[in-house]
Amino acid sequence: MQEKQAIEYWKKAREFLAEVLSPDIYERWIGVIDAAGDDLGDSQLTLTVPNDFYQDWLVENFMPHIRKALSAAGCENPAIHFAVDASRQLREMPEERLQGGVPPAAPAKSSARKAAVRSCNVGSPLNPKNTFENFVVGPSNTFAHAAALAVVEAPGRAYNPLFIHGGTGLGKTHLIQAMGDAVLKGKKGTVCYISSEKFTNEYIQAIQQHAIADFRKKYRGIDMLLIDDIHFLAGKEGIQEEFFHTFNTLYENQKQIVLTSDRPVSEIANLQKRLVSRFEWGLVTEMEMANLETRVAILRRKREQMDLQVPDDALFFIAEHIRSNIRKLEGSLLRVTSYLSLTKKALTQETLEYLLRDTLEQENQTALTIEGIQRLVAEHYDIRLGDMTSKQRPQNIAFPRQVAMYLCREMTGQSLPAIGNAFGRNHATVLHAHRLIGQKMKTDAALRQTILSLEQRLGTVAAPN
Ligand code: ADP
Ligand code: MG
Repeated sequence: MQEKQAIEYWKKAREFLAEVLSPDIYERWIGVIDAAGDDLGDSQLTLTVPNDFYQDWLVENFMPHIRKALSAAGCENPAIHFAVDASRQLREMPEERLQGGVPPAAPAKSSARKAAVRSCNVGSPLNPKNTFENFVVGPSNTFAHAAALAVVEAPGRAYNPLFIHGGTGLGKTHLIQAMGDAVLKGKKGTVCYISSEKFTNEYIQAIQQHAIADFRKKYRGIDMLLIDDIHFLAGKEGIQEEFFHTFNTLYENQKQIVLTSDRPVSEIANLQKRLVSRFEWGLVTEMEMANLETRVAILRRKREQMDLQVPDDALFFIAEHIRSNIRKLEGSLLRVTSYLSLTKKALTQETLEYLLRDTLEQENQTALTIEGIQRLVAEHYDIRLGDMTSKQRPQNIAFPRQVAMYLCREMTGQSLPAIGNAFGRNHATVLHAHRLIGQKMKTDAALRQTILSLEQRLGTVAAPN
């Protein structure tokens, strides 16, 4: 959207928000947002914020408000991008940053500044915080990270396509955008980052406007295509067909393709066979949830990056309790930081629990699913989550797997077949594992201790407080 138009819409939207939000909230979270021009088309609105904490927080908490306000301002359903205006960060925040805490809102200004939007050559802008430098490497992502680096070294030649899968909030988008960023910085070619959803929408629009030739030219003429959340294509025949040809053209011309998905290729429902096989041509790599050390490292990195004054105790508390998702980890850090910036009181365990109560509660629910148990046990024995369901049987994997089955049977209330299923096995295997571990515990004090501590870890999170 053009700058003038964007500013006008946002000015009106802001007036609307000032009416409906409390002055505090408005000052802190809305007053800091500016609109900026971009060259992404009329349906795209770019809003700039002083740092990525704002972006995360706004996305998590204020999107419905913002959309409603924009709509009231006459801007219907724009695709909203946030961009961090790095220049503003330095200009407006030094004092607060020295004092620690989330930088309070700068007074609202009506003039928009040119944002530091890192545009790809085509597609959506890259979030400037999603770089390799900001990506913390640990056992859960070493492989994916190494593959990403190899691809960036030699696009189109190392692994093509690169397929990265893993649950929500585990860093897929961060990694894939870091690849785009590195290729752009290294001037190694043109890059397009786009979500499958947006790709689909553009395709539909192109059909409606009889502009399919332009659409094809656009996506088939780039050096690196980064397609995020490919599972979105599940069951969508037309776009799968189109993507198949895009894929082939790029591939034949040795252009790099990178895909992410929240599940393995084989589990994407109704995906054409020929796409499934193509996605597996190159390298398939999985990202898992970071272990405790990595979670602490990520929080520390974040603290350093943002100059936050959060004590180590609090970082550990967050890292220990938020185990399902890095986005939530960051959200929790933000919440605690936000609190610290408002009060001078020391942070007690109770305060932390209170501040993070919603997230902790959600964590409980995930913790006691079969997968939650598998994760925890895999983490404890330092094996991969994938080992829980793999067909391999070396003792160093088989035993933790039996422990996990035992805990699932003891703690989840799920049926034997359901548990078996989740481990890629039948109910008899679960029954056997349960008996075996039960028996061993009678004579093996160390194992009893391990089981007890695992149960406690699952239990403490589970206990409502
Ligand atoms: P996904 O695309 O898998 O849902 P994202 O890439 O959006 O996840 O990651 C969620 C958040 O966690 C982002 O803010 C991202 O920067 C951060 N994050 C994830 N993995 C890491 C990591 N290894 N190091 C630093 N930050 C990370
Ligand atoms: Mg993502």
